[in-house]
Amino acid sequence: MIEIKNISKTFHQKKQAFKALHNINLSIEKGDIVGIIGFSGAGKSTLIRTVNLLERPDEGQIIINGKDFTELNSKQLAHERKKIGMIFQHFNLLSSRTVFENIALPLELDNLSKDKIREKVNELLQIVGLEDKAHDYPKSLSGGQKQRVAIARALANDPYLLLCDEATSALDPATTQSILQLLRDINHRLGITILLITHEMEVIKAVCNHVAVIDKGQLVSKGTLSEIISNKENPIIKQFLNSGVMTIPQELNKKLQKEPQDGLFPLVE
Ligand code: ADP
Repeated sequence: MIEIKNISKTFHQKKQAFKALHNINLSIEKGDIVGIIGFSGAGKSTLIRTVNLLERPDEGQIIINGKDFTELNSKQLAHERKKIGMIFQHFNLLSSRTVFENIALPLELDNLSKDKIREKVNELLQIVGLEDKAHDYPKSLSGGQKQRVAIARALANDPYLLLCDEATSALDPATTQSILQLLRDINHRLGITILLITHEMEVIKAVCNHVAVIDKGQLVSKGTLSEIISNKENPIIKQFLNSGVMTIPQELNKKLQKEPQDGLFPLVE
C-alpha cells in the first residue's frame, strides 16, 4: 500500500549541508500499525513528513496505492493529503475554537452542509469518547482529551492512513495507554493503517505489529516486533530494550489488568 523507496533528504542551513535521511526503504501493508523508533534527531519526523510530502525528499519515491506522490503537483498533493490524517505531540488545536469547531474545521474547508458537518462531528466525538465536551474550549481539557480532539479532527475526512508524530510524548503513562488503546480501536474498527514515530519501546510494544529502527538517518533494522526484539545483538536495539521503558507504575498496571477503568488500559505484554 505504501512504499517508501530509496528516500534521501539533506537540509541546508547556514551554508552547511546535513544529510537527515540516507536511502530509506520501507513497505507498509494496508491495516498495519507500523512504528518507527529512534533517538532524538535520528530522522523520524523528517521521514514521516516525507510520506505526505510535507518534506520533499531529494531522492527516491513515495508510492501510495500505486501513485507516486513525488510526481504530483501541489494541487494534486493537497487533494491526496485529505485522506491522510496527521496527529502531533502538541495536538495543534485552535484555542479560539471549541472542540466541535476544531473537529469541524476540515469539513468546513470541504464546504459540507451544516447538517452533514454536525452529523459527522457527532459521530467522531463518539468514536473518541468526548460527546460531553463538544462546546468546551481546548484550554479546559486535559492533555489526553486534547489529543482525542486532534485524533477526531484527523479522522474527519475518513482517511485510510494516520501519521502519528510522537502522539503520546507529552502525556503521562496512564493517558498514553488510553490514547494507544484508541489508536488500536481505530485501526481495528475502521481499518485505518497507522504509521507512528516514537522514541519509546513501550509505545511500540503496546500497538505496533511492524517496526523500523532508525539511527542517524539510516534504517538500522525492520521487521515484526518479535524479530526486532530477538535482534538483541544490534547495539541500537539493545539500548532501546534496556532503556526505553515507559514509567507506568507496575502497581497501576496490575490493577488495570484486573479492573480496567474508564479510559485507562493496562500495558500489553
Ligand atoms: P527526530 O524526529 O528523530 O527527532 P528529525 O527528523 O526531527 O529527528 O531531525 C533529524 C535531523 O535533521 C536533526 O539533526 C535535525 O536538526 C535536522 N533537521 C530537521 N528538520 C530540519 C530543517 N528544517 N532544517 C535543518 N535541519 C533540520
